[in-house]
Amino acid sequence: MKADPDCIFCKIVAGEIPCAKLFADDAALAFLDIGPLAEGHVLLIPKAHYETIDRMPADVAGRVLRHLPALAKAVQSAVGCEGVNVLQNNGRIAHQFVPHVHFHIIPRRAGDEFHFNWPAGKYPPGRAEELVEAIRKELP
Ligand code: AMP
Ligand code: ZN
Repeated sequence: MKADPDCIFCKIVAGEIPCAKLFADDAALAFLDIGPLAEGHVLLIPKAHYETIDRMPADVAGRVLRHLPALAKAVQSAVGCEGVNVLQNNGRIAHQFVPHVHFHIIPRRAGDEFHFNWPAGKYPPGRAEELVEAIRKELP
């Protein structure tokens, strides 16, 4: 996928703007988030420009996501947190402000300021089966 000249993460990939780089290979780049929700908040991105995850080819996603386990482990060890959230936002409604796919690795500690509202619901009888069928139909 071609770089987008207006995309801030493409500019980071191209070296046109700096980042606090952790590592890069031919498919992926990891660096510190400039506005950390906690110390050690890391972003893992594909080097190629894809706006949202549904537009990413599976093989590219694999070459980026394979770094997640080691990165999550390294962040936890380095900052000594109790856990991490791996978060990936798609679309403005889902809090995506940079339209280049990125995975947040966010260190978590008891009493930190990063809160989820997690309004877990419940399916009425039959609805889960309908949804399974609808989603399966869309799968390749
Ligand atoms: P999202 O809300 O998922 O789109 O998150 C975008 C993230 O990118 C935010 O956490 C920003 O702090 C981060 N960000 C934006 N510009 C930069 C930059 N130049 N270097 C590092 N992180 C950035
Ligand atoms: Zn981009």
